[in-house]
Amino acid sequence: MPEKKNKLDMEKIVSLCKRRGFIFPSSEIYGGLGSCWDYGQLGVELKRNVRNAWWRAVVQERDDMVGIDASIMMHPQTWVASGHVEGFSDPLVECKNCHLRWRATDLQGDSCPDCAGELTEPRQFNLMFKTFMGPVEDEANVIYLRPETAQGIFVNFDNVLATSRKKLPFGIAQIGKSFRNEITTGNFIFRTREFEQMEIEYFVKPGTDEKWFDYWVKERFDWYLKLGVGEENLRLRQHGKSELAHYAKDCYDVEYLFPMGWSELEGIANRGDFDLVQHARHSGKSLSYFDEESGEHYTPYVIEPSAGVDRSTLAFLIDAYDEDVAEGETRVVLHFHYDLAPIKVAILPLSKNEKLVPLSREIYTELRRHFMTQYDDAQSIGRRYRRQDEIGTPFCVTIDFQSLEDKQVTVRERDSMAQIRLPIKELVKTLQAKLSGEPFDTQPLWATRTSDALGK
Ligand code: ATP
Repeated sequence: MPEKKNKLDMEKIVSLCKRRGFIFPSSEIYGGLGSCWDYGQLGVELKRNVRNAWWRAVVQERDDMVGIDASIMMHPQTWVASGHVEGFSDPLVECKNCHLRWRATDLQGDSCPDCAGELTEPRQFNLMFKTFMGPVEDEANVIYLRPETAQGIFVNFDNVLATSRKKLPFGIAQIGKSFRNEITTGNFIFRTREFEQMEIEYFVKPGTDEKWFDYWVKERFDWYLKLGVGEENLRLRQHGKSELAHYAKDCYDVEYLFPMGWSELEGIANRGDFDLVQHARHSGKSLSYFDEESGEHYTPYVIEPSAGVDRSTLAFLIDAYDEDVAEGETRVVLHFHYDLAPIKVAILPLSKNEKLVPLSREIYTELRRHFMTQYDDAQSIGRRYRRQDEIGTPFCVTIDFQSLEDKQVTVRERDSMAQIRLPIKELVKTLQAKLSGEPFDTQPLWATRTSDALGK
């Protein structure tokens, strides 16, 4: 039976992203650069909202977590200790005919998937990008672009412990760029050579690790659900024994049903004390913890939830995408969770009539102090609603001639397309409440439902 796939075609997402300014091919005027993408004016807001939602859930709203931002370039010994210099590699095969290179583990047959040519024997290919620090390009000056953010956390374990007065269990979170010279890329921003990770190292007393592992698997799975991802498109997959790293006790992947099939969004691993022990051994510094309650010294175990900013951004985009029919026309709409929507409110004067401009600009100036707001007065109001739906803007505020008299405006909600009319002085408060989850049809006394004449 063919594996289940998301019915949405990835090309639709790629094309929407390009058309509306979410994501562009990198250095496109030069023909692009393999698997590198640039986030445009809406993509940058979406990605920032993804990071902020994660930071809020794992740092801001918790007592037991702090964040750091470590350097991308680290002492080269870091990668010897972590095992990346020796073991961070994929088996690479090359087609003897067309010279395309493939990851051996991705192939089903033993010939080139592109031209059916004969393949070379696999050889190990290290995925770390190498460069040199300083003016002399020799082996002594080799450094690496980090292939994961996690090691920046481990090497700062003692610094954070000494300065934050945290006691076990506690965790350190970090968001930042990572680089992997992946052999096969593709599927848009799913697998790229430069990407961003959101990683947590949660340090616990040995023996309590399994309980905390289960806790984080659930916590991280629920995060995607809370941000609106459909339950039918998410699943957990436990790693089999042969997939587990030799030091890992257990690992689950949160998988999403991408257009190319179920694929990893995030991994949650119980890494035991491997990392801290390795760094203590290679650096000669003690990285143990003194437990005041029991009077013991021990090396904490660590639970690592490791997610990708770009991959989750792609999942949020795919999951939000929908086509329905409004006023007899196909409407493309991104049903983003309000927290993720790049633009929260659009200000749409009914027309470009100069009488409407001063009040419209005044409302715009006030709202943009509170929300990412867009002003749009080009083309018909219906077209402008469609444009905002297509980029996932939750609320459109329409200013009409009546507004000049009664100081009221119409607010239209993206998903239901329902409209309410309310006093301008209530606008900020109302939008804040709606964006925080108050149902759109909870109408205060002054709100009156309008006919949808404005939308026509
Ligand atoms: P994969 O098997 O898909 O290459 P992985 O198991 O090597 O992923 P991890 O090392 O566990 O990935 O990295 C944690 C997370 O970082 C992944 O779940 C993913 O969200 C993100 N990630 C890893 N590699 C890439 C990449 N090349 N492009 C985009 N995101 C990535």
